[in-house]
Amino acid sequence: MPPTSAQYNVTILDHHWFNDEIYELRCTRPPGFTFQPGQFVELGHQHLEREYTIVSAPEEAVLRLLIKRMPQGNLSVLLAELPPGTILNLSAAKGYFCFQPSDKQPCFIATGTGIAPFIAMYAAGVRDFTLLHGVRHPSALVYRNELNAAARCYMPCLSAPIPTGTDFPCFQGYVSTYVRTVLPHGDYDFYLCGRRAMIHDLTHLLDERYPQARIYSEAYD
Ligand SMILES: Cc1cc2nc3c(=O)[nH]c(=O)nc-3n(C[C@H](O)[C@H](O)[C@H](O)COP(=O)(O)OP(=O)(O)OC[C@H]3O[C@@H](n4cnc5c(N)ncnc54)[C@H](O)[C@@H]3O)c2cc1C
Repeated sequence: MPPTSAQYNVTILDHHWFNDEIYELRCTRPPGFTFQPGQFVELGHQHLEREYTIVSAPEEAVLRLLIKRMPQGNLSVLLAELPPGTILNLSAAKGYFCFQPSDKQPCFIATGTGIAPFIAMYAAGVRDFTLLHGVRHPSALVYRNELNAAARCYMPCLSAPIPTGTDFPCFQGYVSTYVRTVLPHGDYDFYLCGRRAMIHDLTHLLDERYPQARIYSEAYD
């Protein structure tokens, strides 16, 4: 394993846009760069540096990051505009939000781009999970087909009204409402990623409803 203080240069290859605010930034993968699915990197350009979770499969030649262009955001906006060929600074992979196999059923709960570590876990072969993905609009349900095929239960939770013509099952409401009103009782390990407010609310709810469950979390804000 490279030391966590290791620094790399990577080159932007391209952007893949899922909608007008969420994109995948694809970069070269430096020789010797390793990571565990679920880990993040610090990505830097000029004086700016922010954390982003890797969504690539472990052996993939390209480094992929799923990024939301934040309104008034500094680096997420800049990264969206930088052309292919631009060099960025990259830290070693960091963090502990990794899949912990156990005899319990994994239940992944994400808001927005908090889906990123679960894409990496799926890409590394994790299957048969329950996945709740909270977004406003179906266009933010990135990797929906792949995740749906791999999951035991995949449920998009839309905070805005479900658009007419949506031809796949969705829950109208927050992920926390789904957990409170629909999620079957069971023996789960919970993994929560995304908005801190969601993690805060759900941790309390899960503690009450599933006192034996392990809860792992990663806050993005
Ligand atoms: C461990 C970790 C992993 C992360 N992984 C990802 C990832 O995979 N994809 C991703 O898109 N982001 C991820 N983030 C968030 C990311 O690091 C940045 O915070 C985000 O891109 C905003 O940076 P910015 O420079 O554009 O905005 P800033 O200039 O830092 O902030 C601009 C405005 O946006 C607000 N803001 C900043 N971040 C958020 C947020 N996450 N939610 C709501 N409001 C916010 C600020 O309060 C401010 O008002 C992760 C964060 C952490 C801590």
